[in-house]
Parts: sequence; structure tokens; C-alpha cells
Amino acid sequence: MSHNFLWDANFHFLLKTIDEALAEKVHKQGCPDCSHKLHQANYPRSPMGILVQFRDHYEERLSFCCELCRKRRTPPSVRFFGRRWYPAPLFMLISAFMGRVNDFILTQMKERFAISVGLSTWKRWRQWWNELFPLTLFWKQVQGIIPVLETRRSFPRALLDLFQGKLEEKISSLLIFLSPLTCAFLQAF
Ligand SMILES: [Zn+2]
Repeated sequence: MSHNFLWDANFHFLLKTIDEALAEKVHKQGCPDCSHKLHQANYPRSPMGILVQFRDHYEERLSFCCELCRKRRTPPSVRFFGRRWYPAPLFMLISAFMGRVNDFILTQMKERFAISVGLSTWKRWRQWWNELFPLTLFWKQVQGIIPVLETRRSFPRALLDLFQGKLEEKISSLLIFLSPLTCAFLQAF
């Protein structure tokens, strides 16, 4: 497994570009409630685990506010998954490759990904993938239209393996695939 893409500016730039395209689509549609114009009203974010030179790619979650009814409209994102401190590509990578946790794995994660995730955070992530993700409307809607998953693997690894290419391509594809979840699911985990 190569995680060198975390050090690749093109990878982070690509995710930012995808988010901008997703946001533009939402912006063009206008307010779904009153059809008025949407104004930019981004959320500031403080990303953890991202190398300092790429942090500015993760400091704002794109969002809009209706000029009339003031309702929020937050587009899907491939950079942010809920309100987690860790940006989505890290959350996905760590979740996919660290299926169980012990001191050895936590040390490996620190050495290989140069990040530390606390045990309690880790447990919340696993609980979300194992117990809550299968209950999401998103999963109920898509599970019938994707190929049969390798059931011995847990989420999100089983999903990651659906995609082709280098690891960074698979991660990007997975983030795009799961992005509809990021509009409805904004609770902190
Ligand atoms: Zn409105």
C-alpha cells in the first residue's frame, strides 16, 4: 500500500476542484425552498492530520445561504465527512486500512501516515461504519445496484475495493461515491 499521495499537492488540489464543481451545481440551482439566489457562506474548518503545506485546501467547507429565507444549503463534499476534525481522505484511508485497533496498529498509523488518532476517536469511527452506516438511507438505496461485496471485509474497505486504479484513485472514487452522505450527515463523530 502506498500512501504517498498524501504528500502530493495534485491529490489535494483535485479534491478541492471536485468540491468546487459540486458546489457550483448547487449554487446554480438556487434555493430549493423559495428559488432565490444562494450566497456563499462557508464554514471555517480546522483540519487535523493534514500536512501543513496542504492545510489551506481544507480550511473551508463550501456552503451557501439563501438571500431571502436565509436557509443553509451545504453541497456534497469529497474533503469533509461530517464534522470530523480529520479531512475525508484521511478518515477514509485510516478507516479502510485499520479494521481493528491495538497498540501496534496505532504505532504503525503514526509511522506510516504521520498522524495519531486516539483510541476513543477510533472506536467512534468503527461504530459508525459498523452500526450506523448500514442503516443510512444512502446505503439502503445503493446496496442493490452495486456488485456483491466481499463480505469478509468491513466498511469502508469493502467499498474501496469496488474501485479500480492506484490507491489515490480508489480513495477519490470512494469519496465521490459517498459524497451524497455528506449533505445529510453532519453530526459530529
Ligand atoms: Zn430561500
